[in-house]
Amino acid sequence: MHAVSAGETLPFICVNPSSSVVFPKTQFRRALINWYRRSGRDLPWRDTRDPYAILVSELMLQQTQVATVIPYYNEWLCRFPDFTSLARASENDVLHAWQGLGYYARARNLHAAAKAVVDRHGGRFPRLVEKMQQLPGIGKYTAHAVASFAFDQSVPIVESNTARVLTRLFDFRESIDSHAGRATLWQHSAKLLPKRNAGIFNSALIDLGALVCISREPKCAICPVKRFCRAENPQTLPVRQSRSRTKRLIEEHAFVIRQGKVLLEQSAARWRGMWILPPLQTSPANQQPIYKSIFPFTNHRIALLVYRRPAPKAAIAKQRWFESIDRVPMPSPHRRATQALVSKLFSRDCRSSQRKRTSTITPAAVVKAVMGSPNRE
Ligand code: SF4
Repeated sequence: MHAVSAGETLPFICVNPSSSVVFPKTQFRRALINWYRRSGRDLPWRDTRDPYAILVSELMLQQTQVATVIPYYNEWLCRFPDFTSLARASENDVLHAWQGLGYYARARNLHAAAKAVVDRHGGRFPRLVEKMQQLPGIGKYTAHAVASFAFDQSVPIVESNTARVLTRLFDFRESIDSHAGRATLWQHSAKLLPKRNAGIFNSALIDLGALVCISREPKCAICPVKRFCRAENPQTLPVRQSRSRTKRLIEEHAFVIRQGKVLLEQSAARWRGMWILPPLQTSPANQQPIYKSIFPFTNHRIALLVYRRPAPKAAIAKQRWFESIDRVPMPSPHRRATQALVSKLFSRDCRSSQRKRTSTITPAAVVKAVMGSPNRE
Protein backbone atom coordinates (compact mmCIF):
# COMPACT_ATOMS: atom_id res chain seq x y z
CA MET A 1 0.00 0.00 0.00
CA HIS A 2 1.28 3.47 -0.86
CA ALA A 3 2.40 5.46 2.20
CA VAL A 4 1.26 9.08 2.24
CA SER A 5 4.27 11.35 2.62
CA ALA A 6 4.48 14.96 3.78
CA GLY A 7 2.97 17.31 1.24
CA GLU A 8 0.73 14.61 -0.23
CA THR A 9 -2.94 14.14 0.47
CA LEU A 10 -5.23 11.18 0.26
CA PRO A 11 -6.73 10.20 -3.11
CA PHE A 12 -10.00 11.90 -3.98
CA ILE A 13 -13.23 10.34 -5.20
CA CYS A 14 -13.98 11.09 -8.84
CA VAL A 15 -16.30 14.10 -9.11
CA ASN A 16 -18.73 12.14 -11.29
CA PRO A 17 -21.46 11.40 -8.73
CA SER A 18 -22.25 8.04 -10.33
CA SER A 19 -18.66 6.88 -9.86
CA SER A 20 -17.19 5.77 -6.58
CA VAL A 21 -13.81 4.85 -8.07
CA VAL A 22 -10.91 6.40 -6.20
CA PHE A 23 -8.54 8.39 -8.39
CA PRO A 24 -4.95 7.63 -7.38
CA LYS A 25 -3.71 11.17 -7.64
CA THR A 26 -0.34 10.58 -5.98
CA GLN A 27 0.60 7.97 -8.56
CA PHE A 28 -0.83 10.15 -11.29
CA ARG A 29 1.34 13.10 -10.27
CA ARG A 30 4.43 10.96 -10.08
CA ALA A 31 3.86 9.48 -13.55
CA LEU A 32 3.14 12.89 -15.03
CA ILE A 33 6.10 14.68 -13.47
CA ASN A 34 8.54 11.87 -14.31
CA TRP A 35 7.43 12.08 -17.92
CA TYR A 36 7.72 15.89 -17.87
CA ARG A 37 11.28 15.75 -16.56
CA ARG A 38 12.21 13.47 -19.46
CA SER A 39 10.08 14.89 -22.26
CA GLY A 40 8.76 18.34 -21.31
CA ARG A 41 9.46 21.31 -23.56
CA ASP A 42 12.44 23.56 -22.99
CA LEU A 43 10.82 26.99 -23.25
CA PRO A 44 12.54 30.30 -22.48
CA TRP A 45 9.96 31.42 -19.90
CA ARG A 46 10.57 28.24 -17.94
CA ASP A 47 14.14 29.32 -17.15
CA THR A 48 12.96 32.22 -15.01
CA ARG A 49 10.99 32.97 -11.87
CA ASP A 50 10.61 36.62 -12.84
CA PRO A 51 6.85 37.39 -12.65
CA TYR A 52 7.25 40.08 -15.33
CA ALA A 53 8.78 37.68 -17.87
CA ILE A 54 6.19 35.02 -17.04
CA LEU A 55 3.35 37.52 -17.38
CA VAL A 56 4.69 38.60 -20.79
CA SER A 57 4.83 34.97 -21.94
CA GLU A 58 1.32 34.23 -20.67
CA LEU A 59 -0.25 37.18 -22.47
CA MET A 60 1.63 36.42 -25.68
CA LEU A 61 0.57 32.77 -25.55
CA GLN A 62 -3.14 33.62 -25.46
CA GLN A 63 -4.48 32.70 -28.92
CA THR A 64 -0.94 32.27 -30.28
CA GLN A 65 1.29 29.25 -30.95
CA VAL A 66 4.44 28.71 -28.88
CA ALA A 67 6.73 28.73 -31.94
CA THR A 68 5.36 32.14 -32.98
CA VAL A 69 5.71 33.56 -29.48
CA ILE A 70 9.36 32.62 -28.75
CA PRO A 71 11.10 35.25 -30.96
CA TYR A 72 8.62 37.95 -29.87
CA TYR A 73 9.17 37.06 -26.21
CA ASN A 74 12.97 37.26 -26.50
CA GLU A 75 12.82 40.52 -28.43
CA TRP A 76 10.29 42.01 -26.01
CA LEU A 77 12.46 41.31 -22.96
CA CYS A 78 15.43 42.98 -24.66
CA ARG A 79 13.33 46.01 -25.47
CA PHE A 80 11.31 46.20 -22.23
CA PRO A 81 13.19 44.16 -19.59
CA ASP A 82 10.93 44.98 -16.62
CA PHE A 83 7.71 46.63 -15.50
CA THR A 84 9.37 50.04 -15.17
CA SER A 85 10.77 50.14 -18.71
CA LEU A 86 7.45 48.99 -20.13
CA ALA A 87 5.48 51.50 -18.06
CA ARG A 88 7.67 54.32 -19.43
CA ALA A 89 7.36 53.24 -23.09
CA SER A 90 5.05 55.04 -25.50
CA GLU A 91 1.97 53.23 -26.81
CA ASN A 92 3.48 53.55 -30.27
CA ASP A 93 6.60 51.59 -29.22
CA VAL A 94 4.55 48.96 -27.38
CA LEU A 95 2.25 48.33 -30.34
CA HIS A 96 5.22 48.28 -32.70
CA ALA A 97 6.96 45.60 -30.59
CA TRP A 98 3.74 43.55 -30.56
CA GLN A 99 3.17 43.98 -34.28
CA GLY A 100 2.50 40.66 -35.99
CA LEU A 101 1.23 38.85 -32.87
CA GLY A 102 -2.32 40.15 -33.35
CA TYR A 103 -5.00 40.62 -30.68
CA TYR A 104 -3.49 43.98 -29.76
CA ALA A 105 -5.70 44.41 -26.69
CA ARG A 106 -3.19 42.10 -25.00
CA ALA A 107 -0.36 44.58 -25.65
CA ARG A 108 -2.44 47.49 -24.39
CA ASN A 109 -3.40 45.51 -21.27
CA LEU A 110 0.21 44.52 -20.61
CA HIS A 111 1.23 48.17 -20.94
CA ALA A 112 -1.58 49.27 -18.59
CA ALA A 113 -0.72 46.48 -16.12
CA ALA A 114 2.94 47.60 -16.06
CA LYS A 115 1.85 51.18 -15.29
CA ALA A 116 -0.43 49.90 -12.51
CA VAL A 117 2.35 47.73 -11.01
CA VAL A 118 4.65 50.77 -10.95
CA ASP A 119 1.99 53.21 -9.65
CA ARG A 120 0.20 50.95 -7.15
CA HIS A 121 2.86 48.44 -6.11
CA GLY A 122 6.15 50.33 -6.47
CA GLY A 123 7.22 48.23 -9.47
CA ARG A 124 6.89 44.88 -7.63
CA PHE A 125 4.34 42.42 -8.93
CA PRO A 126 1.85 41.48 -6.18
CA ARG A 127 2.01 37.92 -4.85
CA LEU A 128 -1.69 37.58 -4.00
CA VAL A 129 -3.80 36.30 -6.89
CA GLU A 130 -6.66 38.58 -5.79
CA LYS A 131 -4.37 41.61 -6.22
CA MET A 132 -3.06 40.30 -9.53
CA GLN A 133 -6.62 40.05 -10.83
CA GLN A 134 -7.17 43.73 -10.11
CA LEU A 135 -4.57 44.59 -12.76
CA PRO A 136 -5.72 45.29 -16.33
CA GLY A 137 -6.08 42.21 -18.54
CA ILE A 138 -5.23 39.68 -15.82
CA GLY A 139 -7.96 37.11 -15.29
CA LYS A 140 -8.08 34.00 -13.14
CA TYR A 141 -5.99 31.80 -15.43
CA THR A 142 -3.20 34.37 -15.93
CA ALA A 143 -3.04 35.21 -12.22
CA HIS A 144 -2.83 31.53 -11.28
CA ALA A 145 -0.21 30.86 -13.95
CA VAL A 146 2.06 33.65 -12.68
CA ALA A 147 1.46 32.62 -9.05
CA SER A 148 2.40 29.01 -9.70
CA PHE A 149 5.25 29.53 -12.20
CA ALA A 150 6.88 32.55 -10.54
CA PHE A 151 6.05 32.00 -6.86
CA ASP A 152 5.34 28.24 -6.83
CA GLN A 153 2.00 28.83 -5.14
CA SER A 154 -0.28 25.81 -5.10
CA VAL A 155 -3.02 27.18 -7.35
CA PRO A 156 -4.67 25.30 -10.22
CA ILE A 157 -4.78 26.36 -13.85
CA VAL A 158 -7.20 25.65 -16.69
CA GLU A 159 -6.31 26.73 -20.21
CA SER A 160 -6.90 24.99 -23.54
CA ASN A 161 -4.30 22.22 -23.09
CA THR A 162 -5.18 21.43 -19.50
CA ALA A 163 -8.92 21.59 -20.26
CA ARG A 164 -8.46 18.96 -22.95
CA VAL A 165 -6.44 16.67 -20.67
CA LEU A 166 -8.86 17.03 -17.75
CA THR A 167 -11.99 16.35 -19.79
CA ARG A 168 -10.44 13.18 -21.16
CA LEU A 169 -8.90 12.01 -17.93
CA PHE A 170 -12.33 12.17 -16.23
CA ASP A 171 -14.40 11.47 -19.36
CA PHE A 172 -16.15 14.74 -18.69
CA ARG A 173 -18.90 15.12 -21.28
CA GLU A 174 -20.49 18.47 -20.48
CA SER A 175 -19.72 21.54 -22.53
CA ILE A 176 -16.60 23.26 -21.27
CA ASP A 177 -17.91 26.57 -22.60
CA SER A 178 -20.69 26.56 -20.00
CA HIS A 179 -20.20 28.21 -16.62
CA ALA A 180 -20.87 24.91 -14.82
CA GLY A 181 -18.56 22.94 -17.12
CA ARG A 182 -15.75 25.42 -16.62
CA ALA A 183 -16.25 25.35 -12.85
CA THR A 184 -16.01 21.54 -12.80
CA LEU A 185 -12.72 21.66 -14.72
CA TRP A 186 -11.26 24.08 -12.17
CA GLN A 187 -12.34 21.67 -9.42
CA HIS A 188 -10.64 18.74 -11.17
CA SER A 189 -7.48 20.76 -11.67
CA ALA A 190 -7.47 21.85 -8.00
CA LYS A 191 -7.93 18.31 -6.75
CA LEU A 192 -5.03 16.92 -8.77
CA LEU A 193 -2.68 19.74 -7.74
CA PRO A 194 0.12 18.95 -5.27
CA LYS A 195 0.86 21.31 -2.39
CA ARG A 196 4.51 21.57 -3.42
CA ASN A 197 6.03 21.92 -6.89
CA ALA A 198 2.73 23.18 -8.26
CA GLY A 199 4.59 25.12 -10.98
CA ILE A 200 6.20 21.95 -12.31
CA PHE A 201 2.94 20.03 -12.06
CA ASN A 202 1.03 22.72 -13.97
CA SER A 203 3.74 22.91 -16.63
CA ALA A 204 3.60 19.12 -16.97
CA LEU A 205 -0.18 19.16 -17.41
CA ILE A 206 0.14 21.83 -20.11
CA ASP A 207 2.84 19.88 -21.92
CA LEU A 208 0.87 16.65 -21.78
CA GLY A 209 -1.94 18.47 -23.60
CA ALA A 210 0.44 20.10 -26.07
CA LEU A 211 2.52 17.01 -26.92
CA VAL A 212 0.53 13.84 -26.19
CA CYS A 213 -3.14 14.49 -25.41
CA ILE A 214 -3.47 16.54 -28.57
CA SER A 215 -6.60 17.76 -30.18
CA ARG A 216 -7.70 15.41 -32.94
CA GLU A 217 -5.66 12.25 -32.48
CA PRO A 218 -4.39 11.88 -28.92
CA LYS A 219 -1.30 9.68 -28.66
CA CYS A 220 -2.80 7.34 -26.08
CA ALA A 221 -0.40 4.53 -26.95
CA ILE A 222 2.53 6.51 -25.59
CA CYS A 223 0.67 8.47 -22.91
CA PRO A 224 2.44 8.41 -19.51
CA VAL A 225 -0.89 8.62 -17.63
CA LYS A 226 -2.86 6.20 -19.78
CA ARG A 227 -3.61 3.89 -16.88
CA PHE A 228 -5.43 6.70 -15.07
CA CYS A 229 -7.45 7.87 -18.05
CA ARG A 230 -11.20 7.21 -18.24
CA ALA A 231 -11.87 8.55 -21.73
CA GLU A 232 -13.73 6.11 -23.97
CA ASN A 233 -13.67 8.26 -27.09
CA PRO A 234 -11.01 10.85 -26.32
CA GLN A 235 -11.08 12.38 -29.79
CA THR A 236 -14.68 13.51 -29.16
CA LEU A 237 -13.58 15.49 -26.10
CA PRO A 238 -13.76 18.21 -24.98
CA VAL A 239 -17.40 18.96 -25.77
CA ARG A 240 -17.91 22.55 -26.89
CA GLN A 241 -20.95 24.59 -27.75
CA SER A 242 -21.21 24.95 -31.51
CA ARG A 243 -19.32 27.99 -32.62
CA SER A 244 -21.10 30.82 -34.36
CA ARG A 245 -20.56 30.69 -38.10
CA THR A 246 -17.74 32.65 -39.64
CA LYS A 247 -18.94 35.97 -41.02
CA ARG A 248 -17.56 37.44 -44.19
CA LEU A 249 -16.72 41.12 -44.41
CA ILE A 250 -15.31 43.34 -47.14
CA GLU A 251 -13.17 46.28 -46.06
CA GLU A 252 -12.01 48.87 -48.59
CA HIS A 253 -9.01 51.13 -48.08
CA ALA A 254 -7.02 53.68 -50.03
CA PHE A 255 -3.40 53.58 -51.12
CA VAL A 256 -2.30 57.19 -51.42
CA ILE A 257 1.25 58.33 -52.11
CA ARG A 258 2.71 61.77 -52.56
CA GLN A 259 6.33 62.83 -52.93
CA GLY A 260 7.61 59.48 -51.71
CA LYS A 261 5.32 59.33 -48.70
CA VAL A 262 2.41 57.03 -47.92
CA LEU A 263 -0.75 58.33 -46.26
CA LEU A 264 -1.85 56.33 -43.19
CA GLU A 265 -4.64 56.81 -40.68
CA GLN A 266 -4.53 56.03 -36.97
CA SER A 267 -7.27 53.52 -36.17
CA ALA A 268 -9.77 54.36 -33.47
CA ALA A 269 -11.60 51.05 -33.85
CA ARG A 270 -10.39 47.46 -34.14
CA TRP A 271 -6.69 48.32 -34.18
CA ARG A 272 -6.90 51.29 -31.87
CA GLY A 273 -3.66 53.27 -31.85
CA MET A 274 -2.17 51.47 -34.87
CA TRP A 275 -1.75 52.90 -38.36
CA ILE A 276 -3.73 51.54 -41.29
CA LEU A 277 -4.38 52.45 -44.90
CA PRO A 278 -7.15 55.08 -44.84
CA PRO A 279 -10.60 53.44 -44.90
CA LEU A 280 -12.94 54.32 -47.75
CA GLN A 281 -16.51 55.24 -46.90
CA THR A 282 -17.79 54.31 -50.35
CA SER A 283 -16.54 51.97 -53.07
CA PRO A 284 -14.78 53.84 -55.88
CA ALA A 285 -16.95 53.69 -58.99
CA ASN A 286 -15.52 51.99 -62.07
CA GLN A 287 -12.23 51.16 -60.38
CA GLN A 288 -10.59 47.83 -59.71
CA PRO A 289 -8.67 47.24 -56.47
CA ILE A 290 -4.89 47.18 -56.87
CA TYR A 291 -4.47 44.78 -53.97
CA LYS A 292 -6.62 42.04 -52.47
CA SER A 293 -6.06 39.76 -49.50
CA ILE A 294 -8.12 37.76 -47.06
CA PHE A 295 -7.35 37.49 -43.36
CA PRO A 296 -9.15 36.03 -40.34
CA PHE A 297 -10.17 38.14 -37.38
CA THR A 298 -11.92 36.40 -34.46
CA ASN A 299 -14.93 34.76 -36.15
CA HIS A 300 -14.70 36.93 -39.26
CA ARG A 301 -13.12 36.34 -42.62
CA ILE A 302 -12.20 39.73 -43.97
CA ALA A 303 -11.49 40.62 -47.59
CA LEU A 304 -9.15 43.62 -47.71
CA LEU A 305 -9.49 45.57 -50.97
CA VAL A 306 -7.11 48.45 -51.61
CA TYR A 307 -7.71 51.13 -54.26
CA ARG A 308 -5.29 53.66 -55.61
CA ARG A 309 -6.60 57.12 -54.70
CA PRO A 310 -5.31 60.63 -55.40
CA ALA A 311 -3.79 62.63 -52.56
CA PRO A 312 -6.32 64.74 -50.66
CA LYS A 313 -5.86 68.51 -50.56
CA ALA A 314 -5.37 68.22 -46.80
CA ALA A 315 -5.05 65.12 -44.63
CA ILE A 316 -7.65 64.85 -41.87
CA ALA A 317 -6.56 65.10 -38.21
CA LYS A 318 -5.90 61.39 -37.64
CA GLN A 319 -4.01 60.96 -40.92
CA ARG A 320 -0.27 61.42 -41.50
CA TRP A 321 2.25 61.03 -44.29
CA PHE A 322 5.03 58.49 -43.67
CA GLU A 323 8.30 58.25 -45.56
CA SER A 324 9.09 54.90 -43.94
CA ILE A 325 6.83 52.43 -42.16
CA ASP A 326 9.66 50.56 -40.42
CA ARG A 327 8.98 52.03 -36.98
CA VAL A 328 5.25 52.52 -37.44
CA PRO A 329 2.93 50.08 -35.61
CA MET A 330 0.70 48.58 -38.29
CA PRO A 331 -1.53 45.49 -38.23
CA SER A 332 -0.03 42.75 -40.41
CA PRO A 333 -2.67 42.80 -43.21
CA HIS A 334 -2.12 46.54 -43.76
CA ARG A 335 1.66 46.33 -43.47
CA ARG A 336 1.75 43.51 -46.02
CA ALA A 337 -0.50 45.48 -48.38
CA THR A 338 1.59 48.65 -48.09
CA GLN A 339 4.88 46.82 -48.57
CA ALA A 340 3.53 44.87 -51.54
CA LEU A 341 2.20 48.00 -53.24
CA VAL A 342 5.33 50.06 -52.67
CA SER A 343 7.61 47.28 -53.88
CA LYS A 344 5.37 46.77 -56.91
CA LEU A 345 5.79 50.42 -57.76
CA PHE A 346 9.50 50.22 -57.10
CA SER A 347 10.03 47.24 -59.40
CA ARG A 348 8.04 48.96 -62.14
CA ASP A 349 10.17 52.03 -61.80
CA CYS A 350 13.32 49.90 -61.85
CA ARG A 351 12.25 48.35 -65.12
CA SER A 352 11.38 51.69 -66.64
CA SER A 353 14.68 53.22 -65.43
CA GLN A 354 16.65 50.33 -66.86
CA ARG A 355 14.95 50.93 -70.16
CA LYS A 356 16.13 54.53 -69.89
CA ARG A 357 19.61 53.32 -68.72
CA THR A 358 19.20 55.25 -65.48
CA SER A 359 21.34 53.95 -62.61
CA THR A 360 20.10 55.95 -59.58
CA ILE A 361 16.70 54.89 -58.34
CA THR A 362 15.21 55.80 -54.98
CA PRO A 363 11.84 54.70 -53.60
CA ALA A 364 10.84 58.35 -53.32
CA ALA A 365 11.63 58.85 -57.00
CA VAL A 366 9.57 55.80 -57.80
CA VAL A 367 6.61 56.98 -55.78
CA LYS A 368 6.81 60.45 -57.29
CA ALA A 369 6.90 58.98 -60.77
CA VAL A 370 3.87 56.87 -60.11
CA MET A 371 1.98 59.69 -58.43
CA GLY A 372 2.02 61.48 -61.71
CA SER A 373 -0.23 58.86 -63.24
CA PRO A 374 -2.89 57.95 -60.70
CA ASN A 375 -4.78 55.58 -62.99
CA ARG A 376 -1.74 53.64 -64.01
CA GLU A 377 -2.66 50.55 -61.89
S1 SF4 B 1 -4.70 8.24 -22.51
FE1 SF4 B 1 -5.11 9.42 -24.33
S2 SF4 B 1 -6.93 10.62 -23.87
FE2 SF4 B 1 -6.14 9.84 -21.94
S3 SF4 B 1 -4.86 11.51 -21.16
FE3 SF4 B 1 -3.53 10.12 -22.30
S4 SF4 B 1 -3.48 10.92 -24.39
FE4 SF4 B 1 -5.19 11.90 -23.33
